[in-house]
Amino acid sequence: MSLPSTAIALLSIAASGAAQAPAPAVPAPDAQEIETSLFFIGDAGHADRPDHPVVSALREAAGGNSARSQLLFLGDNAYPEGLPEKDAPGRAAAELRLNTQVDAARASGAATIFIPGNHDWGHTRSEGWDQVRREARYVVERGGQNVRFLPEDGCPGPVTVDVGRSVRLVLLDTQWWLHESAEAVHPTSACSADSEDEVLGALRDAVRGATGRHVFVAGHHPLASGGPHGGSGSGSYDHNNAVRRLDITRYASDKPGLMRVDVFGDGRLRLRVLLVDARGRRTEAFAMWLD
Ligand SMILES: [Zn+2]
Repeated sequence: MSLPSTAIALLSIAASGAAQAPAPAVPAPDAQEIETSLFFIGDAGHADRPDHPVVSALREAAGGNSARSQLLFLGDNAYPEGLPEKDAPGRAAAELRLNTQVDAARASGAATIFIPGNHDWGHTRSEGWDQVRREARYVVERGGQNVRFLPEDGCPGPVTVDVGRSVRLVLLDTQWWLHESAEAVHPTSACSADSEDEVLGALRDAVRGATGRHVFVAGHHPLASGGPHGGSGSGSYDHNNAVRRLDITRYASDKPGLMRVDVFGDGRLRLRVLLVDARGRRTEAFAMWLD
């Protein structure tokens, strides 16, 4: 698949990354020039206590300038199987995990989007579509006005969200492609796109229609290399009319952390991988200009 215009695809696994190589010397720009900061965290569904260090670090980092910050939780928001029915085994543990993330997002004051991963679809459970819709309702209800769960209703997306003056988020539920039981399908569903052709067409339109905005395509699984999770940790970086792979595994391992992309007023983008230690302290493990 090749997408026109400027797009960056970012994946959940990438966002939980940490450095293997020493961080190159990238001069830190003036924070005053940042127009929008995007914070990506993936596989956060293990966070099972309100003071979880990575989630706390995220709350603090985004809360520093909440009006200009956007949080994205990139799926697998509740291990092991999403949110079970009320009173079902595992319900309380799943609630605790979701509450940890949703409450942190809410406390940060930043606009927040959760997207689903395979575990939110119940992992391999046949009733996964119910599972993911139940979790979405729960997250939105607890999160209040700043917290969204997209795409809605177990639809594949894409959902387009424009942020600030120069960012477009294009959100996909990539588990829809892989789920083998009941789900939204053409022509019976209420989703705006519910076949593979329709989703791809809408994705092209979303990118083409970005009119100068930086486009971030976010999904839990890699777009080009399959699930779970394909070429784990790699993402696509599309610039100047061609999708190029940005192999984040070169810079990331499975140490806890988050990824931040600062969008500057002059159009430049700076990616940062932030490690978080057991006490919640953030250190920059890696940074690069995306150009
Ligand atoms: Zn996953």
